[in-house]
Amino acid sequence: MTGAPERKKYLGAVDLGGSKILSIVAQGDGRRLGEDRRPTDAERGPDAVLERIVGSLEEALAKAGLQQSDLAAVGICSPGPCDIDAGVLSSAPNLPGWRDVPICRYLEERLGVPARLENDANAAALGEHVYGAGRGCRHLIYMTVSTGIGGGLIIDGRLYRGATGVAGELGHMTIEPDGPLCGCGNRGCLEALASGTAIAARGEELVAQGGSALLARMAQEEADLTAGTVSRAADQGDIACQGIVERAGYYLGIGLASYVNIFNPEVIIIGGGLAKVGELLLAPAKAEMAARAMREALKAVQLKMTELEDYAGVMGMVALLREGCR
Ligand SMILES: [Zn+2]
Repeated sequence: MTGAPERKKYLGAVDLGGSKILSIVAQGDGRRLGEDRRPTDAERGPDAVLERIVGSLEEALAKAGLQQSDLAAVGICSPGPCDIDAGVLSSAPNLPGWRDVPICRYLEERLGVPARLENDANAAALGEHVYGAGRGCRHLIYMTVSTGIGGGLIIDGRLYRGATGVAGELGHMTIEPDGPLCGCGNRGCLEALASGTAIAARGEELVAQGGSALLARMAQEEADLTAGTVSRAADQGDIACQGIVERAGYYLGIGLASYVNIFNPEVIIIGGGLAKVGELLLAPAKAEMAARAMREALKAVQLKMTELEDYAGVMGMVALLREGCR
């Protein structure tokens, strides 16, 4: 790039999700100057969504009082497997029709700056490590619990991606060999037992068995039955719904104990929509982790809630762009 490099010091970052796009413009020190949120409209296909990503970044720039020529680089994170070296999103579970989309090349051509791609959970781990609840830690695990369960690993101060970039898939550890079928094709993964989708599925089963009049009524009123519905029914004192959430917490704890033993982290950071359910989920998770993990590993680890919340991914991209690290 030619021109006036000293003016180009701002970083653009985008979190592309199945339902929403979050864009920010930030300085390298992590200060956010402008942001934009808009629905992904994933059903309109990759071309329309790519256009919306650019529009969202432009809006974030405008809110910061900046223009495209002020950008030094952009980063985008997204769920699902991606080829970070080629900048290609291989596929995304919540983005129908996305297969091998060269997202970095598109952004580079449209914006005229280098673009980087990363898996969203990896980015969130990095964001918490540099700017959030994991500041100052060299060994940390980030776990996102929402419709699915994802994760990212920081080992010895660096993001660990594994051989093909899929390391840290914490949701796909087998917990119950003959358990429910998981989206990945395996049975009894943590995701199939403790994610929002799993809690909602147990709620559906409960309603079908006539096990909770309250949950049935709430599901009818909301015209939907999600993990949030189950958790609200639990809050209102429904014993069976409390049992579902506690059971999910118990499974989470089994997973956490294994991560503690394998990685000996200083901190495990829990993010994602289900983290908001709070102690009904987390108390049994902590108890189970404490009961199963090895003592020497357990005494080193702290369980923390996300500090960056839904900014974790974009802040991770800012960290990645700032350090130019791989
Ligand atoms: Zn799985």
